[in-house]
Amino acid sequence: MKTYDVAVIGSGPAGASAALKLAEAGISTVIIEKETLPRYKTCGGGFVYRGRRKLPFDITPVVEREFSKIDLFFGKMGIHLTTEREEPIITMIMRDDFDNLIVEKAKEAGVTLLQNHKLKNITFGDELTLHTSQGDVKTKFVIAADGALSVTAKLTGWEETRYLIPALEYEVKVNDEDFERLSKEVRFDFDAVPLGYGWCFPKKNHLSIGLASARRTKIDLKKLYKEYLVTLGIEEVEEEEFHGFQIPVTPRTDDYTRKGVFLVGDAAGFADPVTAEGISNAILSGNLAADAIIESELNLKKAEDLYNEKLNENLLPELQVGEKLAKLFYEQHKIRNFLMKRYGEKFCEAMTEVFMGNRSYPRDIMKRLKEKLKSAIF
Ligand SMILES: Cc1cc2nc3c(=O)[nH]c(=O)nc-3n(C[C@H](O)[C@H](O)[C@H](O)COP(=O)(O)OP(=O)(O)OC[C@H]3O[C@@H](n4cnc5c(N)ncnc54)[C@H](O)[C@@H]3O)c2cc1C
Repeated sequence: MKTYDVAVIGSGPAGASAALKLAEAGISTVIIEKETLPRYKTCGGGFVYRGRRKLPFDITPVVEREFSKIDLFFGKMGIHLTTEREEPIITMIMRDDFDNLIVEKAKEAGVTLLQNHKLKNITFGDELTLHTSQGDVKTKFVIAADGALSVTAKLTGWEETRYLIPALEYEVKVNDEDFERLSKEVRFDFDAVPLGYGWCFPKKNHLSIGLASARRTKIDLKKLYKEYLVTLGIEEVEEEEFHGFQIPVTPRTDDYTRKGVFLVGDAAGFADPVTAEGISNAILSGNLAADAIIESELNLKKAEDLYNEKLNENLLPELQVGEKLAKLFYEQHKIRNFLMKRYGEKFCEAMTEVFMGNRSYPRDIMKRLKEKLKSAIF
């Protein structure tokens, strides 16, 4: 049976980034992936600049389109907000190509890829034995990067404490005229879903159109998708491919490390609570887990402490503020709409700065918003 220092379960952005970093530091690393790569992943494929700017390699070969301007619509109030930067605020990618590119970089750095290997069980001990659909692997550390449904977290004993929201996405082909019109802009429509939003992301030759509900309510997202097509002015769809999945938009509340297992990306619940954008934090958390293991010189206790410290420094405070902001934004429509009418441009600019990686959500945002409301009322 082959033994590695680190086994990474899952080859999405979290897992592949972690593996790349570990291998570059000379740590023997294996990626265990249940699919055969490149594999389709249900995702809008909108990659924000805060993630792209930190990647240690060029992603041009997998870029479908880049947008340095985005448009936000609050249709019912007739509000249209636009924001623009010099760099691409959002880069459009297809996840099969994008994820595979990171895996290829990891392989070049020395990572072993075991694809078509599904993790089925784990035997815990001083070393961990991973039982996969194609045999066993021994390891000292496990990075659980197996996404929203994380089998690794379940096998390690984590309860479900993340909040998962439903999202669907269609890969859509429309006629040339509609494509020409819609491929020029990235748009978010906050009135397309009662407690969520819709998006239209242009790829090279088609549109990724999706809807997410920030709250699990009785809602027919497929019906809302049909209505959203009308909002977008699409009368006829030439081809469409449906994909639905879940996005964890709050972090777990019962630790991120246990028994030699480190949770990263969706497995930990690190997508942004306001936008459900998860790729950049998947990469960030993958890197933080890898850094912790590297700095600990493979000492388990030290690595656990370091990872928790790094999460507290770099990610968790941001997610906590995001959670509060999301509650206000999606559940308090009257207040949100009032604030959007008055401060919409400012909000849009501030959010853009967050997703450019120039700032994080202000920790006192709720206090500031309350003050704004007070001063507007009195
Ligand atoms: C409809 C929709 C639209 C979205 N749009 C966007 C967007 O536009 N921008 C954005 O930033 N985020 C978006 N997200 C969120 C984003 O897709 C996730 O946050 C991101 O993929 C998380 O990355 P990850 O590496 O943690 O996990 P994943 O990308 O989910 O990767 C997990 C990997 O683990 C593998 N795996 C799972 N189980 C096992 C097992 N038992 N054994 C071995 N391997 C296993 C899977 O095959 C997969 O390759 C969207 C999500 C959805 C559902």
